[in-house]
Amino acid sequence: MEIARTVDDVRTAVRGPRSRGKNISLVPTMGALHVGHLSLLEAARKTGGFSVVSIYVNPTQFAPSEDYQQYPRSFDPDCDACRNMGVDLVFAPSDTEIYPPGDQTRVRPGPLADGLCGPFRTGHFEGVCTIVAKLFNIVGPDIAFFGQKDAQQAVIIQRMVEDLRLPVRVEVRPTVREPDGLAMSSRNVRLSPDERKQALTLYGALCAAQDRLQSGERSIGRTVAAMRTVIAAYPEIKVDYLSIVDPATLQSVSEPAGKMLIAGAIRIGQTRLIDNIIVEVERS
Ligand code: AMP
Repeated sequence: MEIARTVDDVRTAVRGPRSRGKNISLVPTMGALHVGHLSLLEAARKTGGFSVVSIYVNPTQFAPSEDYQQYPRSFDPDCDACRNMGVDLVFAPSDTEIYPPGDQTRVRPGPLADGLCGPFRTGHFEGVCTIVAKLFNIVGPDIAFFGQKDAQQAVIIQRMVEDLRLPVRVEVRPTVREPDGLAMSSRNVRLSPDERKQALTLYGALCAAQDRLQSGERSIGRTVAAMRTVIAAYPEIKVDYLSIVDPATLQSVSEPAGKMLIAGAIRIGQTRLIDNIIVEVERS
C-alpha cells in the first residue's frame, strides 16, 4: 500500500491503474477509522479496481467553536487498517496541499444545506462540498463511497455531483452500528461510560418514531414529541433537532407517507452526535 502526501503523487499513482483500464474508487474520511469506515473500504475493494482512501481532517468544515483541535487522530493504526482491507493508496495531504497559499475558492451548496445540521453548523456543508470537490478533482475517481450515517451530507454531495457535472458515481452505504444500536462514529471514543449510555437514547428515539409510524400513527407532531420524550430521560442531553423529512429533498413532511428520513442530532457534554433511519409507510 502506498501513502501519498501530495497531489502530484496521487495523480502519478492512479495514472498506471487507470491506463490499464482499472476503475478508481475513493473513500473520503477524516481518519480515526472504525468499522463503519471499514464497510466503505470493503465496498471499494469489492469493485475490483484501484482503491484510494483519503485521510484528512478538513479544517474548513469545522466552525471556530467546534472540535477541530480535539477531533481524534490515529494515523498509524488507520494505515494498518487500510492495509488489512486491501486499500491500494492512502492520500494524507497537508493543509497547504489542499488549501494552497492564497486559496479562496469555495463550493457552496444550495437549500439542501439549510435544514437539519445546517443551522447548527455554520459553513459546515460548504467546507464538506469544497473538500469533496477537491478530492474528486485530485483523485479522479469513477466511484466514491459515502455513509448513510451522514444522510444530509450524502444528499448534498449527490446534488453537487449532478450540478457540477462531475464524472463520478456516488454510492451510499448503510450505517454500521454497535451491537446495542449506537451508530459508529469517530467521536464515540470521547464519550465517558455514562455519556455512552446517554448516547444510545438517540437511536432509541429514532426507533420509537419508526415504531409509531409503522403502527399507523398519522401525526408527525406526536411522533416528534415521542422522540423528545425518549431523550428527556437524560435532562443533561441537549437536542439540536429531531426531525422527519423527505429523504431526497430534506424538507419536513407534514403527514406520514412513503419514505421518510427520521434524523436527529444531540449534544452530550462536548460531543455532538448524529444519527438517522429511513422508514417507509404506505401512502393512504
Ligand atoms: P468521517 O471520517 O466521519 O468524515 O466519515 C467518512 C465516511 O464514513 C463518511 O461518508 C461517513 O458517512 C462514513 N461513516 C461514518 N460513520 C459511519 C457508520 N457508522 N456507518 C457507515 N458509514 C459511516
